[in-house]
Amino acid sequence: MSHKTDVAVIGAGPVGLFAIFECGMLGMRCHVVDALDAIGGQCSALYPEKPIYDIPAFARISGAELVERLEQQATPLKPVFHLGQRVEKLERLGEGFRLTTSKGAVIEAGAVIIAAGAGAFGPNRPPLAGIEAYEGQSDGRGVHYLVRRPEDFRGRRIVIAGGGDSAVDWALALHGIADHIAFVHRRDQFRAAPDSVARLRALDGKGLDIVVPFQLDALAGDSGRLEAVTVRSLDGETRRLPADALLAFFGLKSDLGPIATWGMELALHHLPVDPATCQTSQPGIFAIGDVATYRGKLKLILTGFAEAAAAAHAIFPLLHRGQPLHFEYSTSKGAPGTA
Ligand code: FAD
Repeated sequence: MSHKTDVAVIGAGPVGLFAIFECGMLGMRCHVVDALDAIGGQCSALYPEKPIYDIPAFARISGAELVERLEQQATPLKPVFHLGQRVEKLERLGEGFRLTTSKGAVIEAGAVIIAAGAGAFGPNRPPLAGIEAYEGQSDGRGVHYLVRRPEDFRGRRIVIAGGGDSAVDWALALHGIADHIAFVHRRDQFRAAPDSVARLRALDGKGLDIVVPFQLDALAGDSGRLEAVTVRSLDGETRRLPADALLAFFGLKSDLGPIATWGMELALHHLPVDPATCQTSQPGIFAIGDVATYRGKLKLILTGFAEAAAAAHAIFPLLHRGQPLHFEYSTSKGAPGTA
């Protein structure tokens, strides 16, 4: 499938999402690719329930709510998302670029913004035979490595595996939504916030069973429809946990992967940019957010937001040669989708 757009954005983390808005305010449309099945980058994948305290004008906002609000702000700019696929190839094509994803999508764009954080996220899969057959289902069934819409799991029997913040936070958030939760961990100690662990233990036996010390052993089902998860203790005891879904939270690995081969100067897994424009060593290719580096760089979401604005303003003259860009405040020009 082939697409044409003004700007291709690699990475749908908070900074990539804001780039859609900044480009859109200058009349440039974006196609956005992310290796994850959901938008939001680290905020969605690593700390959806944790409060962030340094987003301007929000005394406190959770990772998930920030992503939701960024999505709302970007939606009127009509971005096209290509999720669950990694950008593998980036080639120059005349004055623009051609991107090819791991699912074979081809995007031709006038400029490229790399908002790739620490690289493409992928799950640490538990080593269970045939697990791929249960992945990628959107109806609250099968195997998942992150949760986008808790409501998908309403009335489902779920097994949550892992012992860190993500596993515990999602068990708390899904309790009362899921029909039943079995919480599986290989030890009776958790690496999550003590207050959250106390809340989890208080729910034991009340629609949620803590199943420790057990490890995932096998999946049982038919034609991709999960029916049960078998767990095994270190001394060989097994239990069969009836389940519609398994949520496995063993962390995500990130990998700069192909980006390192696209001919840009690299500095310790980051892309050096000119901070005034966020252009990399390759004209027309920009980098913003955690992946971008320059002297004094702060790896903060708010820094990435400002970089998105700088990149959009630097891209406009490349795509509109001879057309002057008059700097305007949003209060003067308004924004699409607002009254
Ligand atoms: P990311 O959020 O990392 O998103 C990058 C996205 O690009 C990923 O989804 C990845 O899958 C995708 N990607 C990469 N390569 C490819 C490819 N080749 N093809 C397709 N997709 C690709 N920051 C703050 O400002 N305040 C805080 O309080 C704060 N708290 C934090 C707490 C924790 C626990 C953590 C882990 C981080 C915290 N941060 C905080 C840091 C903040 O989350 C990052 O600065 C921010 O997420 C960077 O955003 P980004 O959009 O640049 O990259």
